[in-house]
Amino acid sequence: MKVKTSLKPRCEHCYMVRRGKTLFVYCKRNRRHNQRQWRGHGKNVKKTRKGR
Ligand SMILES: [Zn+2]
Repeated sequence: MKVKTSLKPRCEHCYMVRRGKTLFVYCKRNRRHNQRQWRGHGKNVKKTRKGR
């Protein structure tokens, strides 16, 4: 499961689910599409650079 700051459905099979305050994207076709929204400290979210 990927953790992202902003979620996007990546194919037509993706669907978004909200559990409490966290947003998820699930995909029946590709499990790789599964994402979870990263909840930082709220408004000020610093972007960290990682390879790839
Ligand atoms: Zn998908």
